[in-house]
Amino acid sequence: MSIHVLPPEVVDQIAAGEVVERPAHLVKELVENSIDAGATRVHIEFFDGGRIVKVIDNGKGMAPEDLPKSLERFATSKISKTDDLWSLKTFGFRGEALASISAVSKLTITSRREGDEQAHQLICEYGKKRDIDKVGGSQGTTILMENLFDNTPARLKFLKSDAAENGAIKTTLKAMALSHYNVEIRIQENGKLVSFWPACKTRKDRVEQILEIKPLFEGEASRENVKAYAVFADPHNVAKTAKNIWLFAQNRWIQDRSLQAAVNEAYRSLLMHGEYPIAVVWVETDPDCVDVNIHPTKSQVKFQNASLAFRAVAASLRGTLEQAPWLGANAPKP
Ligand code: ADP
Ligand code: MG
Repeated sequence: MSIHVLPPEVVDQIAAGEVVERPAHLVKELVENSIDAGATRVHIEFFDGGRIVKVIDNGKGMAPEDLPKSLERFATSKISKTDDLWSLKTFGFRGEALASISAVSKLTITSRREGDEQAHQLICEYGKKRDIDKVGGSQGTTILMENLFDNTPARLKFLKSDAAENGAIKTTLKAMALSHYNVEIRIQENGKLVSFWPACKTRKDRVEQILEIKPLFEGEASRENVKAYAVFADPHNVAKTAKNIWLFAQNRWIQDRSLQAAVNEAYRSLLMHGEYPIAVVWVETDPDCVDVNIHPTKSQVKFQNASLAFRAVAASLRGTLEQAPWLGANAPKP
C-alpha cells in the first residue's frame, strides 16, 4: 500500500481509543468540561458499566452555533496559542474529548446559556450530526452518551465487568469531588442514588465528607516554587492498599509513583508492614514548571523538578506527623 492520509473517521476512531479507553475516562472528561464551564452542581448518572452516561451541569452553557463545533477535533474555547499550554486555567485544552466520545457512541447535547429563551439540542451518532433542535431545559449543559462502542464491537470486548467499570467510574468521581470541594456532586448508578456530596467550605471538609474519616490532620510545606498541602488520617487509621493515597497536581488527579513514595516515606516509621496511609495531597507550582500534557488521559504530569515535588510532599506530612501525640507509642527505635 502506498502512503496515504487516513480518512477523518479512522483518525477519530484512533484518537477515541486513547481518550476513551474505558467509561471512567469519558466520565472524567465530561465532568471536567462541566467544571470548566463554571458549574456549581454536577449530576452524574450511569448505567450498564458506563455504556450509558448522563452528566447534567448548571454551568454557562453553549451557544447553539457552538454545539456542532464542540464535536470537532481540536476545537476548543479554552486555549488559542502554544503559550496558553503553559498557563492553563482549565482542565480541557485539547478539544478532543467530545470528538472522541461522539465517534464511538450516540451523543445528545442539550445546552442553554443564561439569557437564552430555550435550550438547543444536537444529536450525533457515531460521528454523524443531526440538525439542531429547540427544546426545553434549564441553564447549563446536559450530555447524554448512549450505545458506547456499539459501532466498534472489538472495543466492547475490552470492557471489564459492569461492576469493575462502575467501580472505576466511582473512584474517578471521588477524585473529581475531592478536588472540587465547592461543587455539589450527585451520583446515580443504575438509577439508584449512590452519593450526594453538597458543596463544602474547605478541602479538609471535603476529604472528611468523601472518605468518611475523622479525625483528619493538615500540613503544608514548600520547596522553592513547589507547594504541597496534605489532609490525612491519624497513622493508627490505616488502609490495606495504597488506594487511599490521593494525589493532585495543579488540582488534577494524577498517578505518580514518586509522589506516592514521598507519602509512604513520610509515614515510614509510623506504619507496620502492609499498612498504607490515608492521605490526600495537593501539589501546586507555577504552570510553566509542570507539563500536564504528557498522557492521553492526563493522569500523569511531569514536573520540571520532580525532586522539589517529592520533598514538598514528604515535608507537608512529616511536619505534622512528627509533632503529633501518636509518635510516642510508635516512635522509631534508635
Ligand atoms: P476541551 O475541553 O479540551 O476544550 P472538549 O472536546 O472536552 O474539549 O470540549 C469542546 C468544547 O465544548 C469546550 O472547549 C467547550 O467550549 C464546550 N463544552 C464542552 N462541554 C461543555 C459544558 N458542559 N458546558 C459548556 N461548554 C462545554
Ligand atoms: Mg474537555
